[in-house]
Amino acid sequence: MYKAFAYAVVLLLLVGCTAQKIPQVEKETKLIKTQKEEVAKIKQKEVKKSEQKYRMFQTVDAKDATLVQDGKNKQYCVICGMDLVKFYKTSYSATYNDKEHQYCSIHCLSDHLGEGIEIKNPKVVDVTTLKLIPVLEAYYVVGSKKKGTMSKVSKYAFSTLKAAEIFQSKYGGEVMDFYGALEKAKEDFKHYR
Ligand SMILES: [Zn+2]
Repeated sequence: MYKAFAYAVVLLLLVGCTAQKIPQVEKETKLIKTQKEEVAKIKQKEVKKSEQKYRMFQTVDAKDATLVQDGKNKQYCVICGMDLVKFYKTSYSATYNDKEHQYCSIHCLSDHLGEGIEIKNPKVVDVTTLKLIPVLEAYYVVGSKKKGTMSKVSKYAFSTLKAAEIFQSKYGGEVMDFYGALEKAKEDFKHYR
């Protein structure tokens, strides 16, 4: 009887131990895993914050950029080779020789035009919506405090006069149409003078 009782106690202890130990270990591993995940999340957030802090005004997230060119050079200015996502807010698209081209700036667009070429359907990025809009429908803020691309005088485009004026009230500059902005861009080139 005593033997049977002792056997039962040992058995209970064993069952008790194994039953308790396994979930405990699982619990701890889970806890460490969640802690690790949380640390990784915080680190990711910090990296993103510092990226945004130091990123240029022209830069957008790749998912927000419309890139119209084909092939491996899709993401690069057809004239200077600069990254079109990095300089997206000053970017242009146009059809030349039945092919879509994309430029980092009005500087490179006017450089191309300076070769005497003819382009069709030129579009510029609207700083507010990040969509490409026809250049003739855009309102430009030229010479604001926000730095330009390939030029000391910046030229940012907006689809509405109101948006251009709000930008101008914050960062200065002059509101003008595409031809005004193009004339300013041409000043950077000797061959236009
Ligand atoms: Zn360029």
